[in-house]
Amino acid sequence: MRLLVVGGGITGLAAAWEAVRGSGAPAEVLLVEASDRFGGKVHTERTDGLLIEHGPDSFVAYRPAALQLAEELGLSGDVISTSGTRTVHLRARGRLRPLPAGMGMVLPSRLWPFVTTGILSPADKLRAGLDLVLPRRLVAGEDISIGAFLRARLGGGIVRRFADPMIGGIYGASVDELSLDAVLPSLRSDEAAHRSLMLAAIAQGRKARAGGRGPGSPFRTFTGGLGSLVDALVEQLIAAGADLRLNTRVAELRPAGERAEAVLDDGSVEAVDAIVLAGGVTSSVALLAVPAPGSSSAMSRIPLATSTVVTLAYPAAAFGTPVTSHGWLEADPAPISGITVSSAKWAGRAGADTVLIRAFVPERLGPIATADDAELLAAVTGHLADVLGTTEPPGLVRIARWPEMMPKYTVGHLDTVAAADAGLAHLPNWRLAGSAVRGVGVPDCIADGRRQVALALSGRARVGA
Ligand SMILES: Cc1cc2nc3c(=O)[nH]c(=O)nc-3n(C[C@H](O)[C@H](O)[C@H](O)COP(=O)(O)OP(=O)(O)OC[C@H]3O[C@@H](n4cnc5c(N)ncnc54)[C@H](O)[C@@H]3O)c2cc1C
Repeated sequence: MRLLVVGGGITGLAAAWEAVRGSGAPAEVLLVEASDRFGGKVHTERTDGLLIEHGPDSFVAYRPAALQLAEELGLSGDVISTSGTRTVHLRARGRLRPLPAGMGMVLPSRLWPFVTTGILSPADKLRAGLDLVLPRRLVAGEDISIGAFLRARLGGGIVRRFADPMIGGIYGASVDELSLDAVLPSLRSDEAAHRSLMLAAIAQGRKARAGGRGPGSPFRTFTGGLGSLVDALVEQLIAAGADLRLNTRVAELRPAGERAEAVLDDGSVEAVDAIVLAGGVTSSVALLAVPAPGSSSAMSRIPLATSTVVTLAYPAAAFGTPVTSHGWLEADPAPISGITVSSAKWAGRAGADTVLIRAFVPERLGPIATADDAELLAAVTGHLADVLGTTEPPGLVRIARWPEMMPKYTVGHLDTVAAADAGLAHLPNWRLAGSAVRGVGVPDCIADGRRQVALALSGRARVGA
């Protein structure tokens, strides 16, 4: 069995790993990556004693696929958690305020810190309290935006000050567009089980504390950054005999009897038995347009967001007081959606004399996200000077642009993905995988890449049977 993997991002690399080292019979792997490096959005730069992440900087530990892969690669000893006590802030109502203890993405798991936080006005807190008595809202089988659902249950304050900065920050879109069922399905089961979302969150918090699971940070990365995972995968895949090609684009895919042919942009044609499409939305829309038009047109309904990450290294002396916060999210108007202070959040990102900051500028903030470098930089550094009182300009600047590259899981996303999969029913050995379809987080991409390999190879077996 010969497997083609389109795309050498984390999904494609995990798929290749599953094919050569997973539980099934090993397959021969050809992985084709259009750009000049593996990793896709996972992009770690090591320069001048700094460790800079241009894309993701961490993954969540409560979805086990990334930790499990790290273990298989012998990287468990390099996994690190956030430094010190987790101090994350929200800039709301004019100043930086610590997130209330026990606050999840949207809901408090402890009542008192929530009641006393200055992030919400007294009226917003009272409105949120209505959730305790309101009847159930969700209709089975009917997706709804996270924003509409939370606004109905908890009011606009909690949406504006918690849900949108937190969830919108991760998914690069407003909660008023994002699908409840694709992004936060747990809210549906919470409402079904407890009716009130607050009661559900408090019950879960109590259970976690009773089970000895404290409020520790769920985020993990590697001593050498997320690029370590990519480097280890590439090295061990090559050692296992996988054929990994850079600077090569899959230009066309076509069925060829029970097999398939991939036309590469160097003119070569490769015959394969199974295909995992892990190149993202635009890539799959183009490659499936002729062989699976229904799947291609479903994929074309997945909107894409643009995001920019601005990394700045300041001399520590530029700050009046030492920066110990891990960062903040913006609930007030600002040219950024938030920052991570990488040098405070993780060990080994910068020397003691440097403060390394990542600022996020998603398109939902308006034209600033696509402004030219000079305008973008002036807006970001000006805002940081206002909030942190920096007295010197940054010594190092990096701007990573991700134009139309972040899939948005809008209302109906699960139906769109089901239609995209159904459009491949006549090609059971071709599978869509990764952030475009089943989870943007790194662990979800890994899990999906691995799962789709098994399905692609067993689809081929079914066809051949
Ligand atoms: C700024 C930013 C911050 C993020 N932060 C986090 C975070 O902290 N934690 C987290 O879990 N997730 C985070 N994410 C999300 C996560 O990084 C991505 O969802 C994930 O890395 C996507 O992996 P992928 O392999 O599915 O796609 P990609 O990384 O996009 O890889 C697809 C690859 O396919 C290649 N390709 C496309 N078409 C072809 C073709 N025809 N032929 C050959 N190659 C092709 C592309 O060149 C690319 O390398 C972040 C994303 C961004 C942009």
